[in-house]
Parts: sequence; structure tokens; C-alpha cells
Amino acid sequence: MESTIVALATPPGAGGIAVVRLSGPESYRITEQVFQPINPNKKVSEAKGYTALFGHFIARGETLDEGVALFFRAPRSYTGEDVVELSCHGGMVIAQELITACIAAGAAPAGPGEYTKRAFLNGRMSLTQAEAVMDLIGAAGRQGAALAESALNGALARQIEGYKSQLVALAGHLAAWVDFPEEDVPELEEDTLRGTLDEVCAGVRGLIGSYGGGAVLRQGVDAAIVGSPNVGKSTLMNLLAGFDRAIVTPIAGTTRDVVEQAVMLGGVRVNLFDTAGLRETGDVVEAEGIRRSRRKLEEAGLVLAVFDGSTPATEEDKELAQLCAGRPAIALVNKNDLEQRFDESILEGKFFRVLRIAAGKGGGMPELEQAVRELLGVANLDPGAPCLVSQRQLAAAVSARDALQEGIQALDGGFGLDAVSVCVDDALAALCRLTGEDASESVIEEVFSKFCVGK
Ligand code: GDP
Ligand code: ZN
Repeated sequence: MESTIVALATPPGAGGIAVVRLSGPESYRITEQVFQPINPNKKVSEAKGYTALFGHFIARGETLDEGVALFFRAPRSYTGEDVVELSCHGGMVIAQELITACIAAGAAPAGPGEYTKRAFLNGRMSLTQAEAVMDLIGAAGRQGAALAESALNGALARQIEGYKSQLVALAGHLAAWVDFPEEDVPELEEDTLRGTLDEVCAGVRGLIGSYGGGAVLRQGVDAAIVGSPNVGKSTLMNLLAGFDRAIVTPIAGTTRDVVEQAVMLGGVRVNLFDTAGLRETGDVVEAEGIRRSRRKLEEAGLVLAVFDGSTPATEEDKELAQLCAGRPAIALVNKNDLEQRFDESILEGKFFRVLRIAAGKGGGMPELEQAVRELLGVANLDPGAPCLVSQRQLAAAVSARDALQEGIQALDGGFGLDAVSVCVDDALAALCRLTGEDASESVIEEVFSKFCVGK
């Protein structure tokens, strides 16, 4: 890690300010070549950590812009190395010129996630925290960001540390007892052993259970809006999107293809698909649209089935209700503001919930949000509770749980403490994998290659 890396730290594109970040042993020397303090008495090389200097950025002998250089001295920086952050005016041209000037002065362009990788390798953060940073960058929605942050704050790492120290105590005791049977090692109380295994296993199971709901909040869910033509699907889509995304007309068959829009619904990021009305048709284009909407209905993590409350239920409505049975579906009986002629009994037992709404008037939305949260299992999710944030963490937690369960079975089956000891060691190794303690180079590469450059 001798090199000094450079990259844009702010999102690419126009913005008020762009930050170019240098990290590595040459950060100060490179800054001297691209930055001149306004105050002639100030020297870059003497700048203390956590201080800022105002000055000019220089590229190819010319003044590019004026701005601020922020200094961080190793090890008290994000990466644990000398870091300089150069804030120039937003706009890609100036920032790019500045990066080019840094590279000309000896910096190397940073690879994906390289700053955070250095932070991890320098012991500035645990692997779970590093993954949370990555997750935070991609977090969708407010609550998802809160969840990612709780892992970043080390809540997950702390919880697992607790389990590890419990298992380490057990493992030490078991090893001593197994390896030196003739010595006077006090035999472990079977109840204590069993109690600890149960406790850690339950905790790990809880973490595994948190993954699904957490994933929904972080990644969002695909939702299909389905229903016969003219029941108000596009009206609902536009209401949820907050603008006219889909064409609304009183002519049946207007929406012929799937229209997609991401919205926040009950704090969850929902990718809405407004589909072609499901009905028999001779029109080829519309038929293709209907085929797609049926597929969406089968794949979606959430189905919003819309019915027209102002007309009697049709054969198509009954078919749709049938299709929704066993799916994560909510029935929305629309046009609540008109006289109601729809017989709800055809919906019975087929939906997670049946709600009466008036999409045209914006009625019934709080109830819809609550139903969506309950259906997705996020209604009671505590955004502050630690939770697993990646497939890698999930896989490690699952191995730990399996090893613990085996240990409990070995104990109950009277297989002897050496069998239990092997399982405890396996569980411990899996938990170490989870927090990245024995993270092999390949795991580290895998985690950090997913970062965007500059983080
Ligand atoms: P889609 O074919 O299912 O997408 O239906 P649209 O969203 O295009 O709506 C069909 C017609 O129903 C339009 O004229 C809408 O204005 C009307 N509509 C939609 N929602 C409501 C509602 O809640 N109340 C009333 N009265 N009319 C509605
Ligand atoms: Zn439509």
C-alpha cells in the first residue's frame, strides 16, 4: 500500500462542490504541486491534521479554480493514511482537470472501494462496517439508510463479538477438557454448555431472520399493478408516483405495455409496474402486453390488484382473484367515491387484505401504506436493531447456526464433548468469517470490488 490514490469523492455530475480525495504517503507532496495557499506564510507540508487552507488549484501551470484543501494526518483519517480533500467548485471539468494534475504529480487512480479497503486493512473499520458503508451508498429509502447505518455504527459487529467471546470461553474449556483428560480440568456443567449454545444459536437465528425484512428496506420490492381495463390502475400509479407517469384515459386498453416507476410507499422503495389490463383481446400488441402483465404478477414481490367498485364484478375479476391466491397480493376496490356495485365476496380468502380506495381522489393511501408494510414484514422492524446486510454475511451466519445446531444435537445425543468441541470451533470460525477477522484476500477483494470508485 505504498501508492497514493486519487478519485472524485462526491457523486459525478453537476453539484455545488466537488471533492477530490488523495490518500497515501504522498498526499501532502502531491497537494503541494496542485494547490497554492493564498496566505504566503502557510505551507502545505506543515499543515496539521483537521485543518483547512484556502488557495488556488493549479494545473499545467495555470490557475484552475479557488477552493479549500482539508488535511488529515495518519492515522487519524478515514483510511488511516495521510489524506487531503480538495474541494473545488462543482462541475466535472474542473474536478477532472484537478484529478489529472494529481496523477501527473504521481498519484494513482483509486480502484473501486479502495479507500474503504485501506480503512479496513489499516484497522480503521471492521469488514461488517465496510460492507455497511457500501450498503449505505446504495441504500434505497430513509429506513434502509437507517438500517445500513446501524451496521456501520458497529451494532452488528458488537453483537457478534458478544457471541464470539461466549463461544471462545466454551471452546477453550472444551479443548482443555478434551486434550488433557487426566489433568484436573473441572468438567463443564452440561446445563451451562447447553445454555450457551442455545443462547448463541437463538441470537444467530434472529440475525438470519432480520435479513429478509432488511433486504426489502434496502433494495426495495417490485410491485405489479394488475386489473381489468379502466378500473384505475394508471390513476393509482400516477397517484403513488406523484405525477402523471402513465396515460390515463376512459378508453379501455390504453396501457399496452408495462410502465415502470420507483416510488416510496410506507417507507419502502417500491418499483411499480403499471400493466396492461388483463382481458381477452384480438389486438396483438395488447395481447403481448397482457402476457407480460401476467408474468409480472407471478414474479412481483407485491401485487396490487385493482377492481372497479362502481360496477358489478366480472368474470375477469374472478379470474384475477384466483390468480392472486397464494401471492403477496392486496385487493384495492377502487372508485370508492361512486355508488358501490361490486360484490366483495369474490375476493374472500384470496388476498392479504382488501381495501376500498378512491385513486382518483387520493383516498385510502395511509391504509394502503400500512398494509404494504405488514405484508412485507417490515411493520415492526426496528431500524436501529443490528441486521445482516449482505449475502456473504447471511451465508456465514447460516453456517454458524448449522454448526451450533449440530453441537446441540451432539450434546443431546450423548456423542461426547469432543464432538461438541468440533462444532463449537466450526461455529466460531463462521462468526469470524462474518466479521472478517480471518478474511482471506479473496473475500476482501469480493467485498471491495463492489464499491464505487471514490469511497
Ligand atoms: P386503467 O385502465 O386501469 O389504467 O384505468 P385508468 O387509470 O386509465 O382510469 C380509468 C378511468 O377511471 C379514468 O377515467 C379515471 O379518471 C377513472 N378513475 C380512476 N380512479 C377513479 C376513482 O377513484 N374515482 C372515480 N370516480 N373515477 C376514477
Ligand atoms: Zn392504464
